[in-house]
Amino acid sequence: MTKVPELFGTLVFNDKTMKERLPKETYKALHKTIENGKSLDPNVANVVANAMKDWAVEKGVTHFTHWFQPMTGITAEKHDSFISPIDDANVIMEFSGKELIKGEPDASSFPSGGLRATFEARGYTAWDPTSYAFIKDDTLCIPTAFCSYGGEALDKKTPLLRSMEVITKQAKRILKLFGNEDVTMVKTTVGPEQEYFLIDKEYYDKRPDLVYTGRTLFGAKPPKGQELEDHYFGTIKPRVSAYMRELDEELWKLGVLAKTEHNEAAPAQHELAPIYSTTNIATDHNQLTMEMMKKVASRHGLVCLLHEKPFEGINGSGKHNNWSLSTNTGMNLLEPGDTPHQNAQFLIFLCAVIQAVDEYQGMLRASVAGAGNDHRLGGNEAPPAIVSIFLGEELTEILESIEKDEQYDSKEQSIMKIGVHTMPKFPRDTTDRNRTSPFAFTGNKFEFRMLGSAHSISSPNTVINTAVADVLSRYADFLETAQGDFNENLHKLIRKAIKEHKRIIFNGNGYDASWVEEAKKRGLLNLETTPDCVKAYIDPKNVELFTKHKVFTKTEMDARYEIYLENYSKIVNIEALTMLDMARMQILPAVIAFSKELGDTVNTKTAVSSKINTTAEVELLTKISSLSAKLYKDIEALQADVDGAADIGDAEELAFFYKDNVLAKMNALRQTADKLETMTDKKFWPFPSTGDIIFSIR
Ligand code: ADP
Ligand code: MG
Repeated sequence: MTKVPELFGTLVFNDKTMKERLPKETYKALHKTIENGKSLDPNVANVVANAMKDWAVEKGVTHFTHWFQPMTGITAEKHDSFISPIDDANVIMEFSGKELIKGEPDASSFPSGGLRATFEARGYTAWDPTSYAFIKDDTLCIPTAFCSYGGEALDKKTPLLRSMEVITKQAKRILKLFGNEDVTMVKTTVGPEQEYFLIDKEYYDKRPDLVYTGRTLFGAKPPKGQELEDHYFGTIKPRVSAYMRELDEELWKLGVLAKTEHNEAAPAQHELAPIYSTTNIATDHNQLTMEMMKKVASRHGLVCLLHEKPFEGINGSGKHNNWSLSTNTGMNLLEPGDTPHQNAQFLIFLCAVIQAVDEYQGMLRASVAGAGNDHRLGGNEAPPAIVSIFLGEELTEILESIEKDEQYDSKEQSIMKIGVHTMPKFPRDTTDRNRTSPFAFTGNKFEFRMLGSAHSISSPNTVINTAVADVLSRYADFLETAQGDFNENLHKLIRKAIKEHKRIIFNGNGYDASWVEEAKKRGLLNLETTPDCVKAYIDPKNVELFTKHKVFTKTEMDARYEIYLENYSKIVNIEALTMLDMARMQILPAVIAFSKELGDTVNTKTAVSSKINTTAEVELLTKISSLSAKLYKDIEALQADVDGAADIGDAEELAFFYKDNVLAKMNALRQTADKLETMTDKKFWPFPSTGDIIFSIR
């Protein structure tokens, strides 16, 4: 194997490659664009495009594509070759600045939530020079934003980039007040920990539910699940280990900083964590990671499941979005400092996050919505659907002492005064013990744990960035104009923030039933499902937030509301249809065949002698027959609801219908079928069991 440092980034047109291949002036101009968001001169674009093409062609590449992130949540690409005819018989490989900067994929087949009707059917992709071009499948991929001709964002990257600009601007205002003259750039950093399941392809192929929906819609609970907790951080099986190795290598070539690979809580569940990077790069890289996970799996006879809940009764998969702010001078703004001055600065950023999460909890919940993730957040696992913040006891006590002007340190007998006192350093250990919190402070960053494993990390980060930026802007407005002593004003501001928003802080067990009650008393939202929470996109308060900072227009938010509702209904509909097919064409026939065998056995035995005991066969046949009748009824009931859904025109009403009626019927059908599974001869059962699947990899 090539040494890792030599391998790393070999498929990326990164800074090092640009420096080597671009004329000095072009390199400088491009760098300006990357660093400061300046627009790129067309002549410069031509030179860059040509250098990119030469570099790619040397690596055997023949095609290029604008790689973008439509509202489907995954990535899209349309390949064009570099060939350009010079006469009847000859072609050359060409790639112009124009082709680099702008593409025109047909937008009409991507979800647009009404944007298409109101505006133009055509869309265009625009190069995002802040994310490097790379080679995938022998194709040069240009990371791009995707917009309609009216300028509306049809993708997930555009709002994210806008939100990054907003938070940069507001954080810089605050830092200036603290005298950080040398800070010219503030960026949000993200490290997404990605969970996934790895199963044998042979089993996967036998399960229409996995093939069509990514999750099992039937399947009795296996005798052993994850209760022994013997999988978490357990020894990695050779087959999985070989997979992880190859995955790491593929990701390293793409410049993805894949760092940690380990087994997760559930059998067959694993996790990959990269080293954090700037948010939009982290987002692109997470998309690439998910894609590579699937691709590499197929080379190993495996299938990688990214669904949030592939198996009932077994932990689902999420994504932990570690988020912080850092400056070009190397400061992490969520890291408590050594001096009173640094601490005051830390506290203001900390309070901004607390306030933002409290004020925009509904929007944060909506940013991780989806039919798949509902099974985690609404169920009794992973973080609950209620958004709250874990700070750890020490930090919570410090905030309380600030709020109440009480002493916080018994040894020093002192009252914590902003700008005067230094805070104690908290070791990471004391801040990272709570695994149930949806939004946890982990020493120098916040970990948002509500994200679903299959989702783009774009939406939640767009919301965090904008919400925190908004609070920072209000803090800056106050501090820039307030009369009197700066530290006094700061103290006042922080006390007010704590007082008004401490309700969002919860250090206890998020799975506890009493928390639901307590949260209700505190006035916190508990939005269990997607139809319940996506309304946040049309809530005037949120519309005001995003339009004020120009992250979304009102139209873009309306569109998203519609897309998420529609998507939810479509997913549940596909699941229901898959269940109906499986139940009718596989389960019911299997059960009938087994019943026949039981009946035949009774007849055979009785023919030999009426004295032979047939109790087992008769009783089993009786039970199975009544359950089969129930199964048949459950099928009909589900079918009736699926048919009924076709008559509902309103998107919201439809989503609620799927949630309240169709999902309930699906559950009933599943329960009956799962009971039958445990009574039916395994050789009759038409697909592998949950146990077979999750314990299959050796
Ligand atoms: P865990 O205990 O949750 O596994 P780790 O310390 O391994 O936590 O870190 C998890 C993720 O957090 C990694 O992807 C890491 O790169 C990321 N991370 C660390 N520091 C920061 C930061 N300042 N900003 C964003 N992400 C960070
Ligand atoms: Mg974590």
